[in-house]
This record gives sequence, structure tokens and C-alpha cells, in this order.
Amino acid sequence: PVRVRFAPSPTGNLHVGGARTALFNYLFARSKGGKFVLRVEDTDLERSTRESEAAVLQDLEWLGLDWDEGPGVGGDFGPYRQSERNALYKQYAEKLLESGQVYRCFCSSEELVKMKEIAKLKQLPPVYTGKWATASDAEVEQELEKGTPFTYRFRVPKEGSLKINDLIRGEVSWNLDTLGDFVVMRSNGQPVYNFCVTVDDATMAISHVIRAEEHLPNTLRQALIYKALEFPMPQFAHVSLILAPDRSKLSKRHGATSVGQYREMGFLPQGMVNYLALLGWGDGTENEFFTLEQLVEKFSIERVNKSGAIFDSTKLRWMNGLHLKALPSEKLTKLVGEQWKSAGILTESEGSFVDEAVELLKDGIDVVTDSDNVLLNLLSYPLHATLASPEAKPAVEDKLREVAASLVAAYDSGEIPRALAEGQSGWQKWVKAFGKSTKRKGKSLFMPLRVLLTGKLHGPEMATSIVLIHKAGSPGIVAPQAE
Ligand code: GLU
Repeated sequence: PVRVRFAPSPTGNLHVGGARTALFNYLFARSKGGKFVLRVEDTDLERSTRESEAAVLQDLEWLGLDWDEGPGVGGDFGPYRQSERNALYKQYAEKLLESGQVYRCFCSSEELVKMKEIAKLKQLPPVYTGKWATASDAEVEQELEKGTPFTYRFRVPKEGSLKINDLIRGEVSWNLDTLGDFVVMRSNGQPVYNFCVTVDDATMAISHVIRAEEHLPNTLRQALIYKALEFPMPQFAHVSLILAPDRSKLSKRHGATSVGQYREMGFLPQGMVNYLALLGWGDGTENEFFTLEQLVEKFSIERVNKSGAIFDSTKLRWMNGLHLKALPSEKLTKLVGEQWKSAGILTESEGSFVDEAVELLKDGIDVVTDSDNVLLNLLSYPLHATLASPEAKPAVEDKLREVAASLVAAYDSGEIPRALAEGQSGWQKWVKAFGKSTKRKGKSLFMPLRVLLTGKLHGPEMATSIVLIHKAGSPGIVAPQAE
């Protein structure tokens, strides 16, 4: 059975790279009818915190990546935090000691430093060359009696190579002669990271290890441990790095890099998930819009690209916009209405004004927080400023001044406000009459009206806009400044 895991270290927020790894694991599990396991890798006790763990879990939940086993859910292969699995690591370390695949190393850190220096002078790889790989039982007994601290060192074959067949990268092989015997348990009894991961993946019956490329070098040590413990080897799939547009490693200086930041900025989980899936994956068609369910249906690990994927926040915004507009209209209206209310632009988050405004403005909104400016933009139409604005200037010729004057008069006399109070039909009736009296029609009527009333040459549909502006009780028309 397919069992995959996402194994975050709770030392910070969920990074977009981690989120993509989690997503690929989730999609793989769901598309194969397997299990998605969450394991918290909190062996680094100094840097791991429960707050960070909670934040990471919250972000995964927000993305909709629910796990079948793990913290908060339980399961038959727990506990699911490494800090609670020490007894298990110990047990397997002892097993390797018994079989002779690890040995006790009593070298002091000074000795180890010296060994490295000598290797460097001789231009040899910095591998362990101490005597404890071949020490006699009597020598070991002697140190044990003295109480000399020791580590457990893994006996690495001195020649040959090891290869894996990575589902994304193909065959990857390593020569063993440069590795050297490595520590699996420190002198304080703490197992090292690679040992924990291997014991966990094996005892949690993980069938596929899908993780970031940066863990590829660890795979060599892990594979040796699998063999030594006679665990079946899982399939590995190492997902490429996420890069910034300049192809450097994505980092904070490139802007928001954590899922939580995007959530706070108003992004939708649907948009985030869709965009993350496209970082290194595609279904082979031009289509880029996918819901989580569609991704489950289409995903295949073979289609994951092995070259680095570029994180393009502009495309993420656009993608988010597609998902925002794909929401059922009540949902979209509610979301945007609440945004306007929380931004203090409106006092009510629902009602016909909100319904009409969202319908009118939604094309201009990619992320819900954009809607603030989009609405404010609509509601502000300082006529005098408009006439001086560079965009409007070419349009403001003498002829337009004439229309402007009639318009101001119609507003001041209450004619326009009365028409607008009757809604769109009132406005349309008034426009018709105004066209007649000014002898204008078509573009030569609508363009000046738009420029003078909304301050822009282009914008959303005029009648709806102007009725909304009126409803919102925004300021009246200000007479153009005489030059
Ligand atoms: N805890 C590791 C990380 O957060 C993941 C290790 C793994 O997937 O094997 O990068």
C-alpha cells in the first residue's frame, strides 16, 4: 500500500517550498488511494517549538491538505513526533551494534580534529580512520570500564557504490569510498538525524519518500541504514528547488516566502494550491487551472520536472484571481464585503450595494485585499483634479468644458441626484435627455460623462458605477478649476 509522509521540522513557518512538498505527497497519496502521514521532526530541541508546529499544521489545514495519520489525528504508527520516539531509535541502534554494523568509537573530539587535519595534508578524503573500527573486544572493555564517552559509528563498506532509482531524477549513484564511517548515535545518547529519519520511514511503513532535492545527499546514509537493518527500501522522489526569478535560491529578500504571509495578504488556499502544483508539474496540456480535486485526478509523479521551478509572485496573483472569480457569487460577495468592512470603507459587509459593487468590480480583483483600492478608486471622482490629470488633459478641450459646465449645473440643481436615486433606469433616462439638450450622442456623449464623473478614461460599466457612487454617498461634483 502507498504510504507517504510530509516531515516538517517545526523551526519556523511553512515555506512555499515545504508546502509544495506537502502538496505533492498529498496528491500522490490521494491519487493512489494511499495514506498521507504527517511526522514532526523536532529532534533539534533548541530550534523546534510547539508554536511553530502549531503554525505549520494550521497552514497545512488552511491549504486543505488533511493528513490521515499524525499529530492531532493519531494512527497505528505513532507517536508522530520524533522527540517521542527516542526509545525506538535506541532499540535499532542496539540492534546494529549487536550485528556489528555499528561499533563504539571512543575517539575524543581532539583526536577527530587531528585525523581531519592529517587527511587534509595528505590530500585524502576526510573520512574516519580511527582504530575503533577494528579494535578488539578487550580494548573496548577497557574504555567502557574507564567510562570514556563513545559514539556509535556506522561501518561503511570501503569500496563499491550504491545506487537508487529516483522517481524524478532517475538513477543516482554514490561511490562509497569517500563516505567514511559516520556517527549514528552521539555520546549523549542522541541519535543523529539521518538515523531517526530512516528508522521512522521504515517503522511507519513509508513506501515513497517524496521530499526536497536538498535531502538527496542524505539518501546515501539513509539507504545504508535501511540495508543494515534489513528494511525494505522505499522509492525515493526528490523534488527540485524553488528558485527566485533571478534563479537564485528563493529567500526573504525576494518577498513573501511563507504560506502564512500569503494567507494574511488575502490569498485563497485554492489559488495557492493550484500555483504550487504548477511549480514543477503540469498535466501536459495548456490548462493551468486546477482545483485540489482535479489535481488529485491528474497528478502523476512521473510528470514532475527535475529542473528548478521559478516562483513568480505575479503569476501567483493571477492564478489567485482565477480562483477568486471562480468562487460561487455569494461566497465572493461575502469575502469582498467583509474585506471592505474590515478595511473601514463600508460600514456594512452585505446588502445590495455590496452585491452590485462586487459584480461590477470583480474583474479588477486578483487578491481580495486588492478590492479596497478598486472600490476606493471607483468612489473617488474629484472632478477638478481629473480635469488637470495627464490622462484626462487631452480630452479636456473647450468643448468638454462646455459639457462640464452643464453637468455641474445639473448636479447642483439636484437633477442628477434625483435621477440617480431612481437607480439605473433613472440615470439612463437622464443621460438621454442630457444628450438631447447638449446635442451629443454615442461616444461623444459617454466619454465626457465618464471622464468628468469618474475621473478616468476607462473603467467598469458606467451606469452601474455612477449609481453605486451615488449610493455610497460620495461627494458631489466639484466645478472644474478655471485656468
Ligand atoms: N525535516 C526535513 C525538513 O524539514 C524533511 C526530511 C525528509 O523529508 O526526509 O526539511
